[in-house]
Amino acid sequence: MEDKPISKKDILKELDEIQSKDHKYSDGRILGSMCTEAHPFAKEVYCKFLDSNLGDPGLFKGTKYIENEVIKSIGELLSISEPYGNIVTGGTEANIMAMRAARNHARKYNGIKEGEIIIPDSAHFSFKKAADMMNLKIIEAKLDENYKIDVDSVKENISDNTVAIVAIAGTTELGLVDPIEELSEIAYENNIYFHVDAAFGGFSIPFLRKIGYEFPPFDFSLPGVCSITVDPHKMGLAPIPAGGILFRKKEYLEVMAVDSPYLTVKTQSTIVGTRSGAASAATYAIMKYLGNEGYEKLAGNLMDNTHYFKEGLEKIGYDVVVEPELNIVAFNHPDMEAHDLADKLEDLGWRVSVAKCPVAIRVVLMNHITKQHLIDLLDDLTEIY
Ligand code: PLP
Repeated sequence: MEDKPISKKDILKELDEIQSKDHKYSDGRILGSMCTEAHPFAKEVYCKFLDSNLGDPGLFKGTKYIENEVIKSIGELLSISEPYGNIVTGGTEANIMAMRAARNHARKYNGIKEGEIIIPDSAHFSFKKAADMMNLKIIEAKLDENYKIDVDSVKENISDNTVAIVAIAGTTELGLVDPIEELSEIAYENNIYFHVDAAFGGFSIPFLRKIGYEFPPFDFSLPGVCSITVDPHKMGLAPIPAGGILFRKKEYLEVMAVDSPYLTVKTQSTIVGTRSGAASAATYAIMKYLGNEGYEKLAGNLMDNTHYFKEGLEKIGYDVVVEPELNIVAFNHPDMEAHDLADKLEDLGWRVSVAKCPVAIRVVLMNHITKQHLIDLLDDLTEIY
Protein backbone atom coordinates (compact mmCIF):
# COMPACT_ATOMS: atom_id res chain seq x y z
CA MET A 1 0.00 0.00 0.00
CA GLU A 2 1.20 3.55 -0.74
CA ASP A 3 1.92 5.95 2.15
CA LYS A 4 -0.02 8.80 0.61
CA PRO A 5 -3.67 8.60 -0.44
CA ILE A 6 -4.37 8.38 -4.15
CA SER A 7 -7.26 10.23 -5.75
CA LYS A 8 -10.43 8.35 -6.64
CA LYS A 9 -9.96 9.41 -10.26
CA ASP A 10 -6.54 7.83 -10.50
CA ILE A 11 -7.62 4.66 -8.74
CA LEU A 12 -10.62 4.27 -11.02
CA LYS A 13 -8.47 4.88 -14.08
CA GLU A 14 -6.09 2.16 -12.98
CA LEU A 15 -8.95 -0.22 -12.21
CA ASP A 16 -10.53 0.43 -15.62
CA GLU A 17 -7.26 -0.51 -17.25
CA ILE A 18 -7.00 -3.67 -15.22
CA GLN A 19 -10.64 -4.57 -15.79
CA SER A 20 -10.22 -4.16 -19.54
CA LYS A 21 -8.15 -7.38 -19.42
CA ASP A 22 -11.26 -9.32 -18.31
CA HIS A 23 -13.47 -10.94 -20.90
CA LYS A 24 -16.93 -9.45 -21.08
CA TYR A 25 -20.11 -11.46 -21.28
CA SER A 26 -21.52 -8.85 -23.65
CA ASP A 27 -18.94 -9.80 -26.32
CA GLY A 28 -20.83 -13.09 -26.65
CA ARG A 29 -17.51 -14.93 -26.83
CA ILE A 30 -17.66 -16.66 -23.44
CA LEU A 31 -19.04 -20.05 -24.43
CA GLY A 32 -18.53 -22.21 -21.36
CA SER A 33 -19.78 -20.16 -18.42
CA MET A 34 -22.82 -21.12 -16.35
CA CYS A 35 -23.00 -17.56 -15.09
CA THR A 36 -23.95 -14.53 -17.12
CA GLU A 37 -24.34 -10.82 -16.78
CA ALA A 38 -26.76 -10.10 -13.96
CA HIS A 39 -29.91 -8.13 -14.69
CA PRO A 40 -29.28 -4.35 -14.22
CA PHE A 41 -32.11 -4.09 -11.71
CA ALA A 42 -30.65 -6.92 -9.62
CA LYS A 43 -27.29 -5.11 -9.60
CA GLU A 44 -28.96 -1.89 -8.49
CA VAL A 45 -30.67 -3.60 -5.58
CA TYR A 46 -27.48 -5.50 -4.68
CA CYS A 47 -25.67 -2.21 -4.04
CA LYS A 48 -28.41 -1.03 -1.66
CA PHE A 49 -27.79 -3.98 0.67
CA LEU A 50 -24.00 -4.11 0.65
CA ASP A 51 -23.72 -3.45 4.38
CA SER A 52 -26.30 -5.90 5.65
CA ASN A 53 -24.90 -8.94 7.41
CA LEU A 54 -27.06 -12.03 7.47
CA GLY A 55 -24.57 -13.62 9.83
CA ASP A 56 -26.15 -11.50 12.56
CA PRO A 57 -29.80 -11.57 11.53
CA GLY A 58 -31.13 -9.96 14.71
CA LEU A 59 -29.50 -6.74 13.55
CA PHE A 60 -30.80 -7.07 10.01
CA LYS A 61 -34.33 -8.30 10.54
CA GLY A 62 -35.49 -6.77 7.27
CA THR A 63 -32.81 -8.49 5.24
CA LYS A 64 -33.42 -11.78 7.08
CA TYR A 65 -37.10 -11.49 6.17
CA ILE A 66 -36.02 -11.05 2.54
CA GLU A 67 -33.81 -14.16 2.65
CA ASN A 68 -36.70 -16.19 4.09
CA GLU A 69 -39.03 -14.89 1.41
CA VAL A 70 -36.57 -15.76 -1.36
CA ILE A 71 -36.17 -19.28 -0.01
CA LYS A 72 -39.97 -19.55 0.10
CA SER A 73 -40.35 -18.30 -3.48
CA ILE A 74 -37.71 -20.71 -4.77
CA GLY A 75 -39.43 -23.40 -2.70
CA GLU A 76 -42.69 -22.74 -4.55
CA LEU A 77 -40.87 -23.43 -7.80
CA LEU A 78 -39.58 -26.67 -6.32
CA SER A 79 -42.88 -27.95 -4.93
CA ILE A 80 -42.44 -27.21 -1.24
CA SER A 81 -44.50 -24.73 0.78
CA GLU A 82 -42.30 -24.57 3.87
CA PRO A 83 -38.65 -24.93 2.93
CA TYR A 84 -35.70 -24.15 5.18
CA GLY A 85 -32.43 -22.87 3.85
CA ASN A 86 -30.20 -20.01 2.86
CA ILE A 87 -28.93 -17.88 0.06
CA VAL A 88 -25.22 -18.67 0.00
CA THR A 89 -22.23 -17.87 -2.19
CA GLY A 90 -22.92 -20.42 -4.89
CA GLY A 91 -23.48 -24.04 -5.78
CA THR A 92 -20.27 -25.12 -4.09
CA GLU A 93 -21.26 -23.78 -0.69
CA ALA A 94 -24.79 -25.09 -1.13
CA ASN A 95 -23.52 -28.58 -1.91
CA ILE A 96 -21.09 -28.44 1.02
CA MET A 97 -23.97 -27.50 3.32
CA ALA A 98 -26.07 -30.37 1.99
CA MET A 99 -23.28 -32.88 2.56
CA ARG A 100 -22.68 -31.47 6.03
CA ALA A 101 -26.35 -31.83 6.88
CA ALA A 102 -26.36 -35.40 5.55
CA ARG A 103 -23.22 -36.38 7.45
CA ASN A 104 -24.32 -34.82 10.74
CA HIS A 105 -27.81 -36.30 10.44
CA ALA A 106 -26.46 -39.78 9.79
CA ARG A 107 -23.98 -39.41 12.63
CA LYS A 108 -26.65 -38.27 15.08
CA TYR A 109 -29.51 -40.59 14.13
CA ASN A 110 -27.78 -43.63 12.59
CA GLY A 111 -24.45 -43.56 14.41
CA ILE A 112 -22.44 -43.54 11.16
CA LYS A 113 -18.91 -42.38 11.82
CA GLU A 114 -17.11 -43.00 8.54
CA GLY A 115 -19.62 -41.77 6.04
CA GLU A 116 -19.73 -42.40 2.30
CA ILE A 117 -21.51 -40.35 -0.33
CA ILE A 118 -22.63 -41.81 -3.63
CA ILE A 119 -22.33 -39.26 -6.41
CA PRO A 120 -22.55 -39.65 -10.17
CA ASP A 121 -19.37 -39.61 -12.18
CA SER A 122 -20.80 -36.42 -13.73
CA ALA A 123 -21.06 -34.60 -10.37
CA HIS A 124 -19.58 -31.14 -9.97
CA PHE A 125 -16.18 -31.08 -8.25
CA SER A 126 -17.70 -29.23 -5.30
CA PHE A 127 -18.59 -32.65 -3.87
CA LYS A 128 -14.89 -33.51 -3.80
CA LYS A 129 -14.28 -30.39 -1.72
CA ALA A 130 -17.16 -31.33 0.57
CA ALA A 131 -15.84 -34.86 1.01
CA ASP A 132 -12.34 -33.60 1.69
CA MET A 133 -13.51 -31.11 4.30
CA MET A 134 -15.78 -33.57 6.07
CA ASN A 135 -13.79 -36.73 5.81
CA LEU A 136 -16.39 -38.43 3.69
CA LYS A 137 -15.53 -41.16 1.24
CA ILE A 138 -16.70 -40.56 -2.30
CA ILE A 139 -18.21 -43.49 -4.15
CA GLU A 140 -18.64 -42.62 -7.81
CA ALA A 141 -21.64 -44.28 -9.44
CA LYS A 142 -21.24 -45.13 -13.10
CA LEU A 143 -23.05 -43.30 -15.85
CA ASP A 144 -25.32 -45.12 -18.28
CA GLU A 145 -24.97 -44.92 -22.06
CA ASN A 146 -26.86 -41.59 -22.01
CA TYR A 147 -24.38 -40.02 -19.54
CA LYS A 148 -26.88 -40.10 -16.68
CA ILE A 149 -26.30 -41.76 -13.33
CA ASP A 150 -26.79 -45.51 -13.57
CA VAL A 151 -29.45 -46.45 -11.02
CA ASP A 152 -28.16 -50.01 -10.64
CA SER A 153 -24.68 -48.71 -9.96
CA VAL A 154 -26.11 -46.59 -7.13
CA LYS A 155 -28.00 -49.57 -5.70
CA GLU A 156 -24.87 -51.73 -5.81
CA ASN A 157 -22.85 -49.12 -3.95
CA ILE A 158 -25.19 -48.55 -1.02
CA SER A 159 -23.57 -49.71 2.20
CA ASP A 160 -24.10 -49.35 5.95
CA ASN A 161 -21.93 -46.23 5.76
CA THR A 162 -23.85 -44.41 3.03
CA VAL A 163 -24.85 -41.02 4.39
CA ALA A 164 -26.03 -39.45 1.12
CA ILE A 165 -26.95 -40.12 -2.46
CA VAL A 166 -26.59 -37.24 -4.90
CA ALA A 167 -28.24 -36.73 -8.28
CA ILE A 168 -28.01 -33.82 -10.70
CA ALA A 169 -30.72 -31.78 -12.40
CA GLY A 170 -28.68 -30.10 -15.09
CA THR A 171 -25.22 -31.64 -15.20
CA THR A 172 -22.33 -29.23 -15.48
CA GLU A 173 -20.95 -30.66 -18.68
CA LEU A 174 -24.01 -31.77 -20.64
CA GLY A 175 -27.00 -30.19 -18.87
CA LEU A 176 -28.70 -33.56 -18.34
CA VAL A 177 -31.23 -34.49 -15.69
CA ASP A 178 -30.55 -37.72 -13.80
CA PRO A 179 -33.33 -40.30 -13.12
CA ILE A 180 -34.19 -38.53 -9.88
CA GLU A 181 -37.57 -40.18 -9.31
CA GLU A 182 -36.07 -43.66 -9.18
CA LEU A 183 -33.23 -42.56 -6.94
CA SER A 184 -35.63 -40.78 -4.63
CA GLU A 185 -37.48 -44.06 -4.11
CA ILE A 186 -34.30 -45.98 -3.45
CA ALA A 187 -33.05 -43.37 -0.98
CA TYR A 188 -36.43 -43.23 0.77
CA GLU A 189 -36.70 -46.99 1.10
CA ASN A 190 -33.18 -47.22 2.48
CA ASN A 191 -33.59 -44.21 4.77
CA ILE A 192 -30.68 -42.40 3.13
CA TYR A 193 -30.38 -38.64 2.70
CA PHE A 194 -30.96 -37.68 -0.94
CA HIS A 195 -29.62 -34.41 -2.35
CA VAL A 196 -30.42 -32.98 -5.78
CA ASP A 197 -27.89 -30.61 -7.27
CA ALA A 198 -30.06 -28.36 -9.42
CA ALA A 199 -27.55 -25.49 -9.28
CA PHE A 200 -27.99 -25.06 -13.02
CA GLY A 201 -31.40 -26.63 -13.77
CA GLY A 202 -33.32 -25.35 -10.76
CA PHE A 203 -33.95 -21.95 -12.24
CA SER A 204 -35.00 -23.24 -15.64
CA ILE A 205 -36.74 -26.64 -15.44
CA PRO A 206 -39.79 -25.28 -13.53
CA PHE A 207 -40.24 -22.54 -16.16
CA LEU A 208 -39.60 -24.78 -19.15
CA ARG A 209 -42.28 -27.12 -17.84
CA LYS A 210 -44.77 -24.27 -17.77
CA ILE A 211 -44.16 -23.61 -21.46
CA GLY A 212 -44.59 -27.23 -22.47
CA TYR A 213 -41.19 -28.88 -22.10
CA GLU A 214 -41.38 -32.27 -20.42
CA PHE A 215 -39.19 -33.21 -17.51
CA PRO A 216 -39.68 -36.02 -15.01
CA PRO A 217 -40.19 -34.98 -11.37
CA PHE A 218 -36.93 -33.79 -9.83
CA ASP A 219 -37.88 -31.73 -6.80
CA PHE A 220 -39.54 -31.88 -3.36
CA SER A 221 -42.65 -33.43 -4.94
CA LEU A 222 -40.61 -36.62 -4.52
CA PRO A 223 -40.71 -37.73 -0.88
CA GLY A 224 -37.09 -38.91 -0.85
CA VAL A 225 -35.61 -35.54 -1.75
CA CYS A 226 -34.08 -33.97 1.38
CA SER A 227 -32.34 -30.94 -0.11
CA ILE A 228 -31.85 -29.09 -3.38
CA THR A 229 -29.13 -26.73 -4.55
CA VAL A 230 -30.38 -24.02 -6.89
CA ASP A 231 -28.31 -21.05 -7.92
CA PRO A 232 -29.81 -17.63 -8.64
CA HIS A 233 -26.43 -16.52 -10.06
CA LYS A 234 -26.65 -19.05 -12.86
CA MET A 235 -30.02 -19.10 -14.66
CA GLY A 236 -31.67 -16.65 -12.24
CA LEU A 237 -29.91 -13.50 -13.52
CA ALA A 238 -28.87 -12.53 -9.98
CA PRO A 239 -25.37 -11.10 -9.37
CA ILE A 240 -22.55 -13.33 -8.17
CA PRO A 241 -22.41 -14.60 -5.39
CA ALA A 242 -25.90 -16.04 -5.15
CA GLY A 243 -26.38 -19.74 -4.56
CA GLY A 244 -29.30 -21.38 -2.84
CA ILE A 245 -29.74 -24.38 -0.56
CA LEU A 246 -33.21 -25.58 0.36
CA PHE A 247 -33.95 -28.28 2.92
CA ARG A 248 -37.18 -30.21 3.39
CA LYS A 249 -36.96 -30.20 7.18
CA LYS A 250 -35.70 -27.85 9.84
CA GLU A 251 -33.81 -30.68 11.50
CA TYR A 252 -31.26 -30.64 8.66
CA LEU A 253 -30.31 -27.11 9.66
CA GLU A 254 -30.45 -28.04 13.34
CA VAL A 255 -27.92 -30.86 13.02
CA MET A 256 -25.43 -28.31 11.66
CA ALA A 257 -26.06 -25.65 14.29
CA VAL A 258 -23.20 -24.39 16.43
CA ASP A 259 -23.51 -21.93 19.30
CA SER A 260 -22.90 -18.32 18.26
CA PRO A 261 -22.54 -16.65 21.66
CA TYR A 262 -21.83 -13.00 20.79
CA LEU A 263 -24.48 -12.67 18.09
CA THR A 264 -28.16 -11.79 18.13
CA VAL A 265 -29.07 -15.40 17.44
CA LYS A 266 -28.09 -18.35 19.64
CA THR A 267 -26.94 -20.69 16.89
CA GLN A 268 -25.70 -20.60 13.33
CA SER A 269 -25.97 -23.38 10.73
CA THR A 270 -24.35 -21.79 7.71
CA ILE A 271 -20.69 -22.39 6.91
CA VAL A 272 -19.96 -18.72 6.47
CA GLY A 273 -20.29 -16.41 9.48
CA THR A 274 -20.55 -12.82 8.30
CA ARG A 275 -22.44 -13.10 5.03
CA SER A 276 -23.83 -10.60 2.63
CA GLY A 277 -27.55 -9.86 2.48
CA ALA A 278 -27.08 -8.25 -0.92
CA ALA A 279 -27.45 -11.49 -2.87
CA SER A 280 -30.75 -12.26 -1.11
CA ALA A 281 -32.08 -8.77 -1.79
CA ALA A 282 -31.01 -8.85 -5.44
CA THR A 283 -32.55 -12.29 -5.95
CA TYR A 284 -35.75 -11.17 -4.22
CA ALA A 285 -35.95 -8.14 -6.52
CA ILE A 286 -35.19 -9.93 -9.77
CA MET A 287 -37.66 -12.73 -9.04
CA LYS A 288 -40.40 -10.19 -8.46
CA TYR A 289 -39.36 -8.05 -11.42
CA LEU A 290 -39.26 -10.88 -13.96
CA GLY A 291 -41.98 -13.02 -12.46
CA ASN A 292 -42.87 -16.42 -13.88
CA GLU A 293 -43.51 -14.83 -17.25
CA GLY A 294 -40.05 -13.28 -17.47
CA TYR A 295 -38.26 -16.48 -16.52
CA GLU A 296 -40.43 -18.56 -18.87
CA LYS A 297 -39.48 -16.25 -21.70
CA LEU A 298 -35.80 -16.36 -20.79
CA ALA A 299 -35.67 -20.14 -20.45
CA GLY A 300 -37.69 -20.59 -23.66
CA ASN A 301 -35.42 -18.24 -25.67
CA LEU A 302 -32.32 -20.03 -24.44
CA MET A 303 -33.77 -23.39 -25.48
CA ASP A 304 -34.63 -21.94 -28.92
CA ASN A 305 -31.01 -20.84 -29.28
CA THR A 306 -29.89 -24.26 -28.10
CA HIS A 307 -31.90 -26.03 -30.78
CA TYR A 308 -30.82 -23.53 -33.42
CA PHE A 309 -27.16 -24.11 -32.57
CA LYS A 310 -27.49 -27.88 -32.38
CA GLU A 311 -29.19 -28.07 -35.77
CA GLY A 312 -26.63 -25.68 -37.26
CA LEU A 313 -23.79 -27.89 -36.04
CA GLU A 314 -25.37 -31.01 -37.49
CA LYS A 315 -25.94 -29.30 -40.85
CA ILE A 316 -22.23 -28.58 -41.22
CA GLY A 317 -21.20 -32.08 -40.15
CA TYR A 318 -20.31 -31.87 -36.45
CA ASP A 319 -21.38 -34.66 -34.09
CA VAL A 320 -23.61 -33.55 -31.24
CA VAL A 321 -22.86 -35.76 -28.24
CA VAL A 322 -26.36 -36.00 -26.81
CA GLU A 323 -29.78 -34.46 -27.41
CA PRO A 324 -29.78 -31.33 -25.19
CA GLU A 325 -32.25 -31.33 -22.30
CA LEU A 326 -31.25 -27.88 -21.08
CA ASN A 327 -29.29 -25.06 -22.71
CA ILE A 328 -25.98 -26.85 -23.15
CA VAL A 329 -24.71 -28.34 -26.41
CA ALA A 330 -21.64 -30.60 -26.48
CA PHE A 331 -20.15 -31.53 -29.81
CA ASN A 332 -17.13 -32.87 -31.67
CA HIS A 333 -15.57 -32.59 -35.07
CA PRO A 334 -15.72 -36.04 -36.70
CA ASP A 335 -11.93 -36.13 -37.28
CA MET A 336 -10.39 -33.56 -34.94
CA GLU A 337 -9.60 -34.02 -31.27
CA ALA A 338 -11.70 -31.71 -29.05
CA HIS A 339 -8.69 -29.90 -27.57
CA ASP A 340 -7.32 -29.17 -31.05
CA LEU A 341 -10.68 -27.79 -32.10
CA ALA A 342 -10.81 -25.76 -28.88
CA ASP A 343 -7.37 -24.28 -29.73
CA LYS A 344 -8.56 -23.25 -33.17
CA LEU A 345 -11.65 -21.60 -31.72
CA GLU A 346 -9.56 -19.85 -29.06
CA ASP A 347 -7.33 -18.49 -31.84
CA LEU A 348 -10.46 -17.02 -33.39
CA GLY A 349 -11.35 -15.29 -30.13
CA TRP A 350 -13.87 -17.72 -28.60
CA ARG A 351 -13.51 -18.66 -24.94
CA VAL A 352 -14.11 -22.36 -25.11
CA SER A 353 -14.71 -25.05 -22.53
CA VAL A 354 -13.93 -28.74 -23.06
CA ALA A 355 -16.00 -31.39 -21.30
CA LYS A 356 -14.29 -34.38 -19.73
CA CYS A 357 -16.96 -37.04 -20.04
CA PRO A 358 -17.18 -37.45 -22.94
CA VAL A 359 -14.38 -35.24 -24.20
CA ALA A 360 -16.16 -32.64 -26.30
CA ILE A 361 -16.54 -28.91 -26.84
CA ARG A 362 -19.24 -27.66 -24.53
CA VAL A 363 -21.27 -24.52 -25.16
CA VAL A 364 -23.55 -23.20 -22.42
CA LEU A 365 -26.14 -21.06 -24.15
CA MET A 366 -26.51 -18.35 -21.55
CA ASN A 367 -28.29 -15.05 -21.95
CA HIS A 368 -25.17 -13.24 -23.18
CA ILE A 369 -24.95 -15.44 -26.30
CA THR A 370 -27.33 -14.05 -28.92
CA LYS A 371 -28.49 -15.58 -32.20
CA GLN A 372 -26.00 -13.36 -34.02
CA HIS A 373 -23.14 -14.69 -31.90
CA LEU A 374 -24.26 -18.21 -32.80
CA ILE A 375 -24.32 -17.35 -36.49
CA ASP A 376 -20.75 -16.04 -36.19
CA LEU A 377 -19.68 -19.13 -34.27
CA LEU A 378 -21.25 -21.47 -36.83
CA ASP A 379 -19.50 -19.51 -39.61
CA ASP A 380 -16.16 -20.03 -37.88
CA LEU A 381 -16.93 -23.71 -37.32
CA THR A 382 -17.78 -24.06 -41.01
CA GLU A 383 -14.42 -22.51 -41.94
CA ILE A 384 -12.60 -24.87 -39.57
CA TYR A 385 -14.46 -27.89 -40.91
N1 PLP B 1 -23.33 -27.79 -9.18
C1 PLP B 1 -23.41 -27.76 -10.53
C2 PLP B 1 -24.31 -28.72 -11.23
C3 PLP B 1 -22.66 -26.83 -11.26
O1 PLP B 1 -22.73 -26.85 -12.58
C4 PLP B 1 -21.83 -25.93 -10.54
C5 PLP B 1 -21.02 -24.95 -11.25
O2 PLP B 1 -20.97 -24.86 -12.44
C6 PLP B 1 -21.78 -26.01 -9.15
C7 PLP B 1 -22.55 -26.94 -8.51
C8 PLP B 1 -20.89 -25.08 -8.36
O3 PLP B 1 -21.41 -23.80 -8.40
P1 PLP B 1 -20.53 -22.53 -8.01
O4 PLP B 1 -19.47 -22.42 -9.07
O5 PLP B 1 -21.53 -21.43 -8.02
O6 PLP B 1 -19.96 -22.75 -6.68
